[in-house]
Amino acid sequence: MQIQATFPRRPTRQVTVGDVAVGGGAPITVQSMTTTKTADVEGTLAQIYALAAAGADIVRCTCNEIEAAEGLAEIVPRSPVPIVADIHHQYRMALAALEANVACLRLNPGNIRRPEHIKTVAAECRDRGVPIRIGVNGGSLHPDLYARHGGRVTAEAMVESALDELAYFAEVDFDLVKISVKASSVPLMIDAYRQLAEVTDHPLHLGVTEAGPPPAGVVKSTAGIATLLAEGIGDTIRYSLTADPVTEARAGRTLLESLGLRERKNVDLIACPSCGRAEVDVFKIAEEALEAFGEREIPLQVAVMGCVVNGPGEARDADLGIAAGRGRGHLFVKGQNVAVVPEDEMVEALVSWAELICAEGVEAALARADVDRASREAERDRTVLLNTQGDDANEVAARVDIVRRAATS
Ligand code: SF4
Repeated sequence: MQIQATFPRRPTRQVTVGDVAVGGGAPITVQSMTTTKTADVEGTLAQIYALAAAGADIVRCTCNEIEAAEGLAEIVPRSPVPIVADIHHQYRMALAALEANVACLRLNPGNIRRPEHIKTVAAECRDRGVPIRIGVNGGSLHPDLYARHGGRVTAEAMVESALDELAYFAEVDFDLVKISVKASSVPLMIDAYRQLAEVTDHPLHLGVTEAGPPPAGVVKSTAGIATLLAEGIGDTIRYSLTADPVTEARAGRTLLESLGLRERKNVDLIACPSCGRAEVDVFKIAEEALEAFGEREIPLQVAVMGCVVNGPGEARDADLGIAAGRGRGHLFVKGQNVAVVPEDEMVEALVSWAELICAEGVEAALARADVDRASREAERDRTVLLNTQGDDANEVAARVDIVRRAATS
């Protein structure tokens, strides 16, 4: 069952990146960035397709040299998602990327500093109707700002950097803008976005920069991004991980789905943590199931549970699940037992029942099942397991007794 979000969204104006709306009540989008050389057109496109399949709505590619801009000219018309060009030091690369028909630019105000260059790019974007993300980064603040704020990166300095850039844009009447104020410190980034949300209604792109490799990078990014989303702040997100960018896209998509901010696209696999009652290697079955479902568009919650004693009850809200018992897998749909399969066919059975539910719906799947027989078999295995394992399969009482004796001897 997917819980719908109740978080209020901060009202923002809307910009469109290609055909993807950002802000103004549009669904929150997931972004990622390619790690290939942009001049490597085929390699970059392969990664863009993988990112789109993993849930990325918008993909950014670096445009650091003329070969990259030329690559963009070939990539943009063949990409399944809008492409953002990442511009750092050379404003001419921004102009070249616009000629390649990118859907958006990302400018770092700390790197392109001359007002005439900033305004030239903004005027060109205005004429073409192409938005810009002002991408402030705590690690590359303008030196003047850094000095003015006591030689430290502060939330106030990052917000000031974004507002300075907005002021240059306003001089040439350009306002198709998204903003990010990323830092590698989670508290600092949260503070900066909160302050920014107070002073502008431009859509905000959230991220913790240089979060590092998983799992810590995922935890840090989630801590920062989810905190802000729960406050209604944020219109598009990116996990910046030191990992295959597909991991970034999946993480972003999973976060939005788990907060109820996006419709589920792929399987939401839940699994019990396993314990002394487990009748199978739950970790292994869960991994195999994850792999079997892959990126398939099956928007169901699927449960893998280690025992039939407690599994079906604990996962009764899942659309579909399987619980192990005495060498067999007991399949259940919405808590209702539907079939019994040999243990080595558990994953295969999960996938085929998931496909059936997707194609025909829960009621049709239940109608096909021998519910009475499946329930009888499940109850029989459950009873046998309870009789052999007792109520205390984890042997907690015996362990407590041993602890007591050790403490008093
Ligand atoms: S009681 Fe069964 S379902 Fe619950 S954690 Fe243990 S093995 Fe998994």
